[in-house]
Amino acid sequence: MTSLPQLIAFDLDDTLAPSKSPLDPRMASLILRLLDRTKVCVISGGQISQFRAQVIERLDGATAEQLSRLYLMPTCGTQHYRYVDGDWRQIYAQNLTPEERDSALAVVEAVARELGYWETETWGPILEDRGSQVTFSALGQAAPVDAKTAWDPTGAKKSALREAAQARLPELEVRSGGSTSIDITRRGIDKAYGMRRLVEQAGVPLDEMLFIGDRLDEDGNDYPVKALGVECRAVTGWPDTAEVLEEMLAA
Ligand SMILES: [Mg+2]
Repeated sequence: MTSLPQLIAFDLDDTLAPSKSPLDPRMASLILRLLDRTKVCVISGGQISQFRAQVIERLDGATAEQLSRLYLMPTCGTQHYRYVDGDWRQIYAQNLTPEERDSALAVVEAVARELGYWETETWGPILEDRGSQVTFSALGQAAPVDAKTAWDPTGAKKSALREAAQARLPELEVRSGGSTSIDITRRGIDKAYGMRRLVEQAGVPLDEMLFIGDRLDEDGNDYPVKALGVECRAVTGWPDTAEVLEEMLAA
């Protein structure tokens, strides 16, 4: 049996599941098989509630031993959750200060209104305080994929928003999130930051890890992991990831 990497880290949206959607049973069972043999991390810009709905609640029948090898890193690893004594516990959270949070919320709303991108018909709130991250979702957190694609087919609106907000928040980092969202964190917080924190948390060096993500292109939110020098595998969506895992598990 060929040995697996000591740890396999995954992006969540469009890598393990469609954006904001739960794991398919096929993917859930592959993750459980992987957890029998190696450590697994999920790292995403999303918050822990999304990890619960998309991942944790789908891992039916997981044993405590399997879950003890699962490392959850919401909001790019500014938070870390582990399964301890029968429950998911927050191990740390690096939150924005109230001043940082308030200025991020105010600036991103002002910029969106000025650019004419502040929508009134939305699926849930546009702005969200995720503790360590403020997120702007143009059409709301629960917007359907079709509506998001139609709103900004080229990504130009999102880029304009990101640039304008960044110019007014020099002390913070404004980054492209999902298809219609931008994330605001402390400077230097991206998935590479999360992967470095993961080294301490999991006790696995970067060169023993494999990262799998759908946005490893230079503009993608997975790219910082590749730039960090971690071995990466690019995928085009969760069915592609499933095939990669089936190959790895069969080897
Ligand atoms: Mg993704």
